[in-house]
Amino acid sequence: MKILRDIPSLLAWRAEAEAAGRGVGFVPTMGYLHAGHLSLVEEARRRVPEGEVLLSIFVNPTQFAAGEDLEIYPRDEAGDLAKAEAAGANVAFCPLDPEIMYRPGPPVWVQVEGLEQRLCGASRPTHFRGVCTVVSKLFNLVRADVNVFGQKDYQQLAIIKRMHAELFFAGEVVGMPIVREADGLAMSSRNAYLSAEERQKALALSGFLRTVEARWAAGERRVAALLADAKTVLSVGEIDYVTLSDAETLEPWADDATVDRPSVLALAVKFAGARLIDNCVLR
Ligand code: AMP
Repeated sequence: MKILRDIPSLLAWRAEAEAAGRGVGFVPTMGYLHAGHLSLVEEARRRVPEGEVLLSIFVNPTQFAAGEDLEIYPRDEAGDLAKAEAAGANVAFCPLDPEIMYRPGPPVWVQVEGLEQRLCGASRPTHFRGVCTVVSKLFNLVRADVNVFGQKDYQQLAIIKRMHAELFFAGEVVGMPIVREADGLAMSSRNAYLSAEERQKALALSGFLRTVEARWAAGERRVAALLADAKTVLSVGEIDYVTLSDAETLEPWADDATVDRPSVLALAVKFAGARLIDNCVLR
């Protein structure tokens, strides 16, 4: 596994790959890898079997607000590199410090208006601008043929697809299904923050999604009926939002609407240990 620590070595690696005519797959992460992240690495390897698969590990400070978990975000670089290599990555970009990605001077931001204000953006107003900015920097540097993201962060994926298209970035953006624990909990690096009791209560999130999927499969299309008892079932923690939206525009359906297009049910629930998000797409 080749480890790149700064921009000049990243650019030198990219130029070498280009000169050799090797395809590039890219998986950006904040590290502390689990099977969800590794499914993205495996997909990148599947798409560029003979090429380069680059994993980036960067805990991006600009997507955390003051008082969030930037300082305590879990890290295990050595473990991550071993897992990523076993899943098919052959090179990793792990900037030594944040100043490598953010140079001195007036800040530069990339934003996708509208999409970034809803759902998670309502309680984390600067989050997606931080994500878009760092992902833009990485897209410019890596110029991958395929950039692989998870549907676990459904809103993030929608925003990045829009940004990628509108800023004419290279390659394509691919979204991969949510990987879950055997009992249904969506895998997340932040699950490590949960107490045993919170971990148990958190099963209500995926449980509720399965209930709504069953209602949808039975033909229910009324928003109020699909979301009936959401507030009760999800009050295992503090509900941030539970929203049914158009799967593409993320425009929320009104409570009295009847759904006639693919839609995404997304939710966020805060526990003392962690704020968890989950979603399912209804087609
Ligand atoms: P993070 O390290 O949390 O920034 O996530 C890096 C990438 O992994 C993002 O594209 C996430 O959507 C994706 N990811 C995180 N958790 C999962 C999961 N349980 N299943 C699939 N992809 C995931």
